[in-house]
Amino acid sequence: MVIYKFGGASVKDADSVRNAAKIIGDADRQVLLVVSAMGKTTNKLEKIVEAHLQKDSRAFELTEQLKQWHLQIVNSLFGIQEITISERIEEIFAEIYWSIEAEQVRDFDFEYDQIVSLGEVLSAGILSAYLNHVGVEHTYCDARDLIRTDSTFREANVDWAETQILIERQLRKLDGRNMITQGFIAGTSDNYSTTLGREGSDYTAAILAYCANASEVIIWKDVPGVFNADPNEFPEAILLPELSYYDAIEQAYYGASIIHPKTIKPLQNKNIPLRVQSFVNPKLPGTLISETYLPETTPTYILKKDQVLLSITPHDFSFIAEVHLRDIFNLFHQYRVKINLMQNSALNFTVCMTLDETTFSQLRKAMEKKYRLRFNTNCVLFTIRHYTEALFARFSLGKEILMEQRSRNTVQFVYRSGE
Ligand code: ASP
Ligand code: MG
Repeated sequence: MVIYKFGGASVKDADSVRNAAKIIGDADRQVLLVVSAMGKTTNKLEKIVEAHLQKDSRAFELTEQLKQWHLQIVNSLFGIQEITISERIEEIFAEIYWSIEAEQVRDFDFEYDQIVSLGEVLSAGILSAYLNHVGVEHTYCDARDLIRTDSTFREANVDWAETQILIERQLRKLDGRNMITQGFIAGTSDNYSTTLGREGSDYTAAILAYCANASEVIIWKDVPGVFNADPNEFPEAILLPELSYYDAIEQAYYGASIIHPKTIKPLQNKNIPLRVQSFVNPKLPGTLISETYLPETTPTYILKKDQVLLSITPHDFSFIAEVHLRDIFNLFHQYRVKINLMQNSALNFTVCMTLDETTFSQLRKAMEKKYRLRFNTNCVLFTIRHYTEALFARFSLGKEILMEQRSRNTVQFVYRSGE
């Protein structure tokens, strides 16, 4: 059995849905299929939630636009005679309308998950209906009945024991048939929707693979595989035919947008290989990620833009000691800020983080009570894995470096963006 994961770009319009259905139909073994929301739907739903919580009436306009966009795709896939799926879309949007008409009941993270999770409910419904339409046999199963989590909304933690039971139960019912479910979303024991963190559909694929003992996971993408750098930024980027779990996890950790960072662990634990393949050219072999030892390692480059370098100093001129660090880390944890790089000296603790205006201003407000803050926005964090001095010299040339850190394998530096 194989797990297929189709991301937003692979179901962004009617043609890509047709293409995805063809790939699924061509499979030569049982497929458990995980699908993300269509195109940029998740970003749009996020905007709807934000507008709703700010009591901004644009929430309604945005919802209507998103509904029409989905209906258009359905129309071109099925023609107007297929009313069942259009009705289903209407129902799901009715749920969104109810949510935004009502007063906010709980906190942002809760509201977010109840609304944003519907993006995947829409896409899985549409893809399932289309698979039926073209005669690809399968069972539809809601991921909220398969993956059980706690109530940490927006970054829920999987209850592995319960999830294992739910997935095994479903596999017995499937009896070898294909299944389609949603990526990214899950459910609590009291039936609320949760999400697993942005780009979490890859993680869903890994959870399913782990619990179902799949022989392989294939992530279908619009690129032919994993490159050693982002081809949009580095014209000389090369495709990596193979990658170890270790390197994949490290690259994801440093910010390469290949796969969700949590994806590798469940796969590594059961030695399940992961392939990244092109949905444009499904015959190409792509990149194989597995438990392998690659003696000659290609350098990889990871660029993270929109970084802030924040220096934190106690007001009373005391040394940065463990008690300050505990306090500072608590604040980062509370505001869910992920630190990309950190360094400390006697009086300063400096971190590099991705800029999110709202969170950053909340964090600053909380920190300024005890600490003096200085920061540079508009920075870039550049990471070279498997670096050499020559490569470091080449890529740092002419840059104003604000912070630098090295280990045996990796060099990272933050510089001011020239853009
Ligand atoms: N649709 C979700 C997102 O855009 C999950 C995913 O695509 O993996 O973050
Ligand atoms: Mg995605």
